[in-house]
Amino acid sequence: FEGMTVVELAKRTGESIATLQDILVNVGEKAGSEFDPLSIDVAELVGMEVGIKVRRQHFNGGAEILPRPPVVTVMGHVDHGKTSLLDALRQTSVAAKEAGGITQHLGAFVVGMPSGSSITFLDTPGHAAFSAMRARGAAVTDIVVLVVAADDGVMPQTLEAMSHAKAANVPVIVAINKCDKPAANPERVKIQLASEGLQLEEMGGDVQVVEVSAVKKTGLDDLEETLLLQAEIMDLKARVDRPAQAYVVEARLDKGHGPLATAIVNTGTLVCGQYVVAGSEWGRIRAIRDMVGKLADRAKPAMPVEIEGLKGLPMAGDDVVVVESEERARMLSAGRRKGNLRKIDLCR
Ligand code: GDP
Ligand code: MG
Repeated sequence: FEGMTVVELAKRTGESIATLQDILVNVGEKAGSEFDPLSIDVAELVGMEVGIKVRRQHFNGGAEILPRPPVVTVMGHVDHGKTSLLDALRQTSVAAKEAGGITQHLGAFVVGMPSGSSITFLDTPGHAAFSAMRARGAAVTDIVVLVVAADDGVMPQTLEAMSHAKAANVPVIVAINKCDKPAANPERVKIQLASEGLQLEEMGGDVQVVEVSAVKKTGLDDLEETLLLQAEIMDLKARVDRPAQAYVVEARLDKGHGPLATAIVNTGTLVCGQYVVAGSEWGRIRAIRDMVGKLADRAKPAMPVEIEGLKGLPMAGDDVVVVESEERARMLSAGRRKGNLRKIDLCR
């Protein structure tokens, strides 16, 4: 991509030269000749806007590509125990224990395991949120935990969750919950799931099933182990030594601190002081806090953090990109607000 001209970019993306030049203006770049090579930062910004992942191929060696924790979403039928399970998992975290069990509500939390590995859970159960994030292009989830109550069995929203996971091409791990109940019948649930096309491991497939009780807190270790195993199979890695690309999970307005957004870094490292554009909002990162409210100077991949310094509230699923100057941040934000870029999203 480096050194690519607008003409070449148009060919690669299928966008018109005029559209690309509009975007260039939006990102604060003078629209020169369509034969001028673009700098890599500009090419990347334009690429993001038209939904193309720009790879920085000029890095040879020294690139820090490290394993990263999995990001997990819990889905399932109403009342099958999603909230209870997330609460129970949150309490298993080493960090939560150190903080006396108190973690901020960030819309996401990390369970640190004694082994040193960790798992990031999105604390926004709800299929609507998942779909909304996906619709905005956010591929934040690596694994879906499908919660099915052992007494109730497969229900309409169980099937809905299965189809969301399938559409997003995200592997599923089944947590059969409420196994403490006298009416629990995990075997029946498995048969139901299999008949809905889920390829369970014990039937020769690769979907793992774990029996848990969120209330009695049983099977949680097993679930965490299974998630880490799945993550290992997926070989989740991320580049660390580049400007961050992140996704907004949640945003709220705080009286004292102004707009606060919970974000999860996808690749790269988010650093305090950087200019960012989040959806159509922009700002300079004034503070980064982790899930127990501790100030951090940077955020690495899969780490949910709260960022302070945006001028307005972004939406869940909005992408966060780092830009090199305030001027570029303002222009990219203004351009997105005008809707030029959304139009491109729609005709893609
Ligand atoms: P959600 O709608 O999926 O978030 O379900 P909730 O977590 O709100 O749980 C719904 C109800 O099921 C609540 O009354 C919970 O106390 C109960 N519940 C959740 N998990 C368990 C469990 O493992 N065992 C039992 N017996 N009850 C549970
Ligand atoms: Mg709930």
